[in-house]
Amino acid sequence: MAGSSVPIEQAAPIVGVLALQGDFREHIALLKSLGADARAIRRPEELAQVAGLVIPGGESSVMDKLSRMFGLAGPLKSAIRSGLPVYGTCAGLIMLADRVLDAIAGQESLGGLDISVRRNAFGSQRDSFETDLAIPSLGALPMHAVFIRAPVVEQVGEGVVALATLADGRVVAVEQGNLLGTSFHPEMTGDTRFHEHFLNVVRSRG
Ligand code: GLN
Repeated sequence: MAGSSVPIEQAAPIVGVLALQGDFREHIALLKSLGADARAIRRPEELAQVAGLVIPGGESSVMDKLSRMFGLAGPLKSAIRSGLPVYGTCAGLIMLADRVLDAIAGQESLGGLDISVRRNAFGSQRDSFETDLAIPSLGALPMHAVFIRAPVVEQVGEGVVALATLADGRVVAVEQGNLLGTSFHPEMTGDTRFHEHFLNVVRSRG
């Protein structure tokens, strides 16, 4: 802000968490613990104030319906198109995908990530599971990852970087420009590296 005595890089970035449905409280708590000014977002006026946005886990078909009902889908799409940093976990990753496989009838995503994502990719046999993932871009330590009725990324476009894969090679974390997505839930395990990385993206965009 012009004339402010606080250098911009030291001000807490305002980061929204889409709070229509799902585990938004966990993301808000984690982002606050990392020094962000984290806020629940339910209305377009609130979205307009943020420098970054997290779309939480939950149920993507419900989140889709509510975002259209609340008049947020359009503003969200324009914000993504204009370069707003957005991090989606699980259902949030589905919302960010350009193509959704096994969507329910009429389900739409916001798009932005040039990927095809399959919902509920692990089937009822393996609804939820935990595993350790190597994520070289976030350091040498593996990350303990919790998958809950999780999607996988089945196809990635040219500009998309796969950040993590399962032992069988399936992609479960991606990044493209200012957009970041994980099939799993770092907000549940206390590993802050994805959120820290995301806040760096938010801060570097200014
Ligand atoms: N299966 C959910 C969906 O399709 C995602 C689950 C989650 O976010 N934990 O949206």
